[in-house]
Amino acid sequence: MEKFNSFDEIKNALEKKACTCQTIVNHYLTNIQSKAHLNAFVEVYEHAAREQALKVDDKIAQGIAGKLAGMVVGIKDVLNFAGHPATAGSKILEGYISQHTATAVQRLLEEDAIIIGRLNCDEFGMGSSNENSVYGKVHNALDFNKVPGGSSGGSAVAVQANLCTVSLGSDTGGSVRQPAAFTGVIGMKPTYSRISRWGLIAYASSFDTIGIFSRTIQDNALVMEVIAGYDEWDSTSSKKSVLSYSQLLPFNRKVKVAILRETLDSPALQSEIKKNTESVLAKLKKEGHQVEAVSFPLLKYLLPTYYILSTAEASTNLSRFDGVKYGYRSPKSTDLESLYTKSRSEGFSEEVKRRIMLGTFVLSSNYYDAYFSKAQKVRRVIKEFTEQILTTFDYILLPTTPTTAFAFGEHGSDPLAMYLEDLFTVQASVTGMPAISIPNGKDEAGMPIGLQVITNSFKEADLYAFSDYLLKLN
Ligand code: GLN
Repeated sequence: MEKFNSFDEIKNALEKKACTCQTIVNHYLTNIQSKAHLNAFVEVYEHAAREQALKVDDKIAQGIAGKLAGMVVGIKDVLNFAGHPATAGSKILEGYISQHTATAVQRLLEEDAIIIGRLNCDEFGMGSSNENSVYGKVHNALDFNKVPGGSSGGSAVAVQANLCTVSLGSDTGGSVRQPAAFTGVIGMKPTYSRISRWGLIAYASSFDTIGIFSRTIQDNALVMEVIAGYDEWDSTSSKKSVLSYSQLLPFNRKVKVAILRETLDSPALQSEIKKNTESVLAKLKKEGHQVEAVSFPLLKYLLPTYYILSTAEASTNLSRFDGVKYGYRSPKSTDLESLYTKSRSEGFSEEVKRRIMLGTFVLSSNYYDAYFSKAQKVRRVIKEFTEQILTTFDYILLPTTPTTAFAFGEHGSDPLAMYLEDLFTVQASVTGMPAISIPNGKDEAGMPIGLQVITNSFKEADLYAFSDYLLKLN
């Protein structure tokens, strides 16, 4: 069977009876097997997926199937799915079986999507290269020696390599957009609170969002309209009504686009990325849109703010993994104290421990004001500054990443070099605004380049419409 480039193709094939959900699942299972070396999946729900396909085929025959019938979805290993393990790529959750299903996953199932497996990621979502997983690294399907980005590397590669139709990831500081850019697919992070976080293993709760990987805007928008919306299990989820994002708004107006001068002038920016971003700006101008460079002097404060606040929240969230309640317990413990310390020391990786220590430090009574509360104030300043830009402009355009996919081990001994990869993605995370990464050509080595679009909170419909327009412009 040929590869499916979109859910529309699947729907057409199902309508014409050229295939069934069972043959679609078989097609993806075969792909997963032949691409096992990419290490995108940590578990394939072969049996459950086949059973669900049979059920959905039945519903199609009766004319009662939901709007995602025939869509095959992979989920990042941070999402709970009752009866299946969920480990956040960590040894500390070894043996843990989910007791409940994440609301986002539940809503997919209610519309008859088929969940095909659990996808590899950086431990607890901490990383930008997917080299930090207890299951080993994920490989970029375009170059086996290069990273797929992180932390949702498995989710990105699963869509890139046609191992599922769409996938779910999570984005705290860029973990959907950055791997989407590195693999040449679409990655959407909605407004904070747009999608319920119930059932998502927490990293930094005031930043965490579930995000969507797809090959087309249409598919992305369709999944968003199904999983977004208020959920009584997540008190922070928004009560704002969910639009029919998949009925893409017609894009027939002239818009105002801001480009942040400091991003294009950044010394860290790879030349081909700069060139491709500038070429989009030129095309937009040619089409009569207003494109203006604005100054964003706060760029240098983005990473410190993000890393202080996210590690603080992580140190609190991860305190629940104590060797008693979930997963791994050290066999070497002799008393309660050593049970805690040994289980945590052996169960977490170096990177996660580094963040817990950093987070505990910035929250400690002597340093709380100097770091944590200062960073909260800076977060507000960044948010207000960005909102100010968006009162004049409809969209902010910027590269998704400073570089394209890099080689394994390149940032190995230097955590700061790795954190710099998030330079352009954390702005939308710190402000809670929706942002999307769409493919924007390739570099000289043939690796994909991502273009990022940010807009005001809850304007996902506008973001999808403009992204669709941009993709057609290219
Ligand atoms: N790379 C960033 C980090 O390590 C972002 C991760 C994410 O969005 N989960 O924190």
